[in-house]
Amino acid sequence: MKKIIIAIDGHAGCGKSTTAKLLAKKLNYIFIDSGAMYRAITLYLLQQNIDTEDTKEVINTLADVDISFSFDSETGNNDILLNKKSVSHEIRSMSVNQNVSAVSSIKEVRHFLVAKQKDIGAKKGIVMDGRDIGTVVFPDAELKIFMTASIEARAERRLAEIKNQDIEVNKEEVIKNLRERDHKDSTRRESPLRKAEDAIIFDTSSLTIDEQVDKAYLLALNVIDSLG
Ligand code: C5P
Repeated sequence: MKKIIIAIDGHAGCGKSTTAKLLAKKLNYIFIDSGAMYRAITLYLLQQNIDTEDTKEVINTLADVDISFSFDSETGNNDILLNKKSVSHEIRSMSVNQNVSAVSSIKEVRHFLVAKQKDIGAKKGIVMDGRDIGTVVFPDAELKIFMTASIEARAERRLAEIKNQDIEVNKEEVIKNLRERDHKDSTRRESPLRKAEDAIIFDTSSLTIDEQVDKAYLLALNVIDSLG
């Protein structure tokens, strides 16, 4: 059966990564959370006390950053490694949330990560989620999905995710951060978040994760079938 590339883009907190991960597992594909890569660079900068708004310093630091994944096909988990050490937990902190959009707006940071993402997808059989996957990283992806949801639904999901990790935040803070990131991600000069023309829209406000995954899985099977 032909392997395809599935690009899932959309706003923060729509369940993109969870959907992408479960979809990849069903298809026996590799799952890549591209947001985790931007988060890992941000975490490194914070650990080194580098001002994330200092573009020159951020660019200079890229040479010290090695990002890779350790994929477990049994669980579908894809641990992100920063300089060979797993940081899957640390990259979800509020300080990373607050700084990641500034870092991801830097052209050189994007070029650095997009090159890696294209490499990882070269063999196809991949589900990647992010903001520019269908528009910039894989403009020829065979299936593109654009996810959105109400701010309430997204905040509830983020809160549930954060609670599982014992991080203290309140709903207002989460909503404020989601709004700020959406704004920064959609208005930045370099590959802003936007729907690819050929992407299928999923409004996930009232969908369960299982429904999202089933919907995406059926679409993927249709595309794969049509390729023969
Ligand atoms: O997907 P997640 O919310 O974890 O992404 C964190 C941040 O990384 C986004 O708010 C955005 O600034 C950046 N990002 C990006 N391009 C991607 C994926 C994420 O700019 N493809």
